Amino acid sequence: MSTRYQLHVPADILAAMLEHSRAELPNECCGLLAGRVADGVGVVTKRLPLVNSAASPTEYWSEPRSMLQAEKTMRAEQLDLLAVYHSHPTSPPIPSRTDLARNFYGESVQHLIISLEKPQGEVRAWRLREDGYDEVILNVVDADESRMSRNRELATEMENGKDNRGIENGEPRTEN
Ligand SMILES: [Zn+2]
Repeated sequence: MSTRYQLHVPADILAAMLEHSRAELPNECCGLLAGRVADGVGVVTKRLPLVNSAASPTEYWSEPRSMLQAEKTMRAEQLDLLAVYHSHPTSPPIPSRTDLARNFYGESVQHLIISLEKPQGEVRAWRLREDGYDEVILNVVDADESRMSRNRELATEMENGKDNRGIENGEPRTEN
């Protein structure tokens, strides 16, 4: 559907998210993505890594001080919070019940989940509701030429894993 929410994420920010999630193994990592909304598309320009105070392989809590610092940066640079990201070290990039229960942002902030279940990693984006989720279109933008193009590796990975319609009205996973 053309009405589906879209996020544009530069390839270097996506790579840094993957790096962050690997650096935090065996625990989950978490962070924020900020930018601006233009023509209904969330254009990410900045990554703000957070500290996971839960230090757990199955959950994350955004540590308050790192959160405060991120909010300060976004205010100073006049950026909006567009998405929250976290990793699933051993499970698919699908929202868990915990993710839905702890979604404090409502539907205006999207959720990116990085799965390290497969060695190459996989990232998918979601809009969380109280009782389910919809997939958000994730466009990887070329970081060098600042034009739209899809990161080949990720595009192949994503096309192997799903059809283009994504998941609508998905049921949350029971375990994380
Ligand atoms: Zn999760």
